[in-house]
Amino acid sequence: MSTIPRRYADDIYDDLWLPEETLEVRARVRNFAEQQVRPVAHELNNTPESLEAFPRKLVTEMAEAGLFRIPFPAEYGGAGLQYPTLATMVMLEEISYLSSGLSASMIDVQLILFGHTLKHASAEIREQLFPAMMAGDVVGSFATSEPAASTDLSVRALQTEARRVEGGYELSGQKRWITNSPVADYMFVLSKLEDSMTMLLVNLQSEGVQVGEPDKKMGNHCQLTADVVFDKVFVPETHLVGREGQGLKAALTSLTLGRVGIGACGVGMAQAAFDYAVDYMKEREVFGKPLASMQHWQYRFADYATRLESARNLYVKAALAEDKQRPSVQQQCAMAKLVGSSLAGDLARDAIQVCGGYGFVKELAHTGKQYPLEAIYRDSKIGEIYEGANEVQQLIIARQVFGR
Ligand SMILES: Cc1cc2nc3c(=O)[nH]c(=O)nc-3n(C[C@H](O)[C@H](O)[C@H](O)COP(=O)(O)OP(=O)(O)OC[C@H]3O[C@@H](n4cnc5c(N)ncnc54)[C@H](O)[C@@H]3O)c2cc1C
Repeated sequence: MSTIPRRYADDIYDDLWLPEETLEVRARVRNFAEQQVRPVAHELNNTPESLEAFPRKLVTEMAEAGLFRIPFPAEYGGAGLQYPTLATMVMLEEISYLSSGLSASMIDVQLILFGHTLKHASAEIREQLFPAMMAGDVVGSFATSEPAASTDLSVRALQTEARRVEGGYELSGQKRWITNSPVADYMFVLSKLEDSMTMLLVNLQSEGVQVGEPDKKMGNHCQLTADVVFDKVFVPETHLVGREGQGLKAALTSLTLGRVGIGACGVGMAQAAFDYAVDYMKEREVFGKPLASMQHWQYRFADYATRLESARNLYVKAALAEDKQRPSVQQQCAMAKLVGSSLAGDLARDAIQVCGGYGFVKELAHTGKQYPLEAIYRDSKIGEIYEGANEVQQLIIARQVFGR
């Protein structure tokens, strides 16, 4: 069996309604991923979390290849695409095909949660941080979650608090699970200000900021997360994002886009598991015939091919809804996340099942050969939890059906 599986999506799925500019992005990102990510993908997906394991070289290479410019308008130094959200989601799918940890940290968080929120910062901050971020010189993070609050982002639940002081704010509290925080330079922090929520941009070098060691997680190992404690941290008033009291709105706008991203990540992971398993089924013989000739597996994978087509179409449509500012964007994004993330877990589980021991193994000691499905299965689970658990996506869709 060849090490690089065939790309079955190229035969089964037709990128029929993608504009030329998005097709170009897909080809360019896939080429980058094959050249630069594939050689280190196993290491990225299997090395336990540590500061040293953060792929700085790859981040620089992504920046040099212009990937960090894809989501942004020309006025910020971005690629100025007509459909930037669509191109970003396609990029997420292509990178997640090889490493969902990398795409979650450097695209979904760095470019969508951090980059999109940056658009709401003051002109001075935008001029300073957009070029640095696109050059890969600044790593960003985005903090809403706390030890006792994440799904419930209400003033009642939130503990991180800002108070007005001369020239700005004083911030105290604790955030948890914050992607990129161990290696980040800046963080958007959702904080309580009196009885409303406000978003502040914190320079992580500020006095009073303490970032913990990276958490040890089930998957997405190169997506480093940690607790961050703020002890009377001074935040200048120029670092207020938007207006006081508008913090939740800023957070939810970015999170809505991030959700489509998680759907696209799911499609990338699911397609990788599909391609690997189908190649395997064609070669592996049991009882004198290939696994691929068994109707049980043919039907199951026909269903998966159909679900992949649906999940990909959903994220494409949700991204277009955002780019075209359609009123349906909330529920489109919720559907794309729900379907893409659950598909990745389902497909990875069955791909492992049909590949048997070769699905379950990470590295075979006798040959030294490395296998990808075990990591995809581990990495897929978090997609159903973060950026709004899938039950919350169901809630968003249900509200459209039944009203509030
Ligand atoms: C790897 C990783 C990276 C992360 N990165 C970030 C980051 O960069 N920034 C950040 O702010 N946060 C981040 N998070 C936090 C993440 O968004 C939260 O873990 C997620 O929102 C779930 O919140 P929670 O863990 O507090 O669970 P809870 O809010 O306690 O929810 C637990 C479970 O309850 C169920 N549930 C909740 N509400 C409902 C409901 N209304 N109806 C039915 N069931 C419900 C869901 O099944 C949910 O999974 C990250 C987490 C992880 C693990």
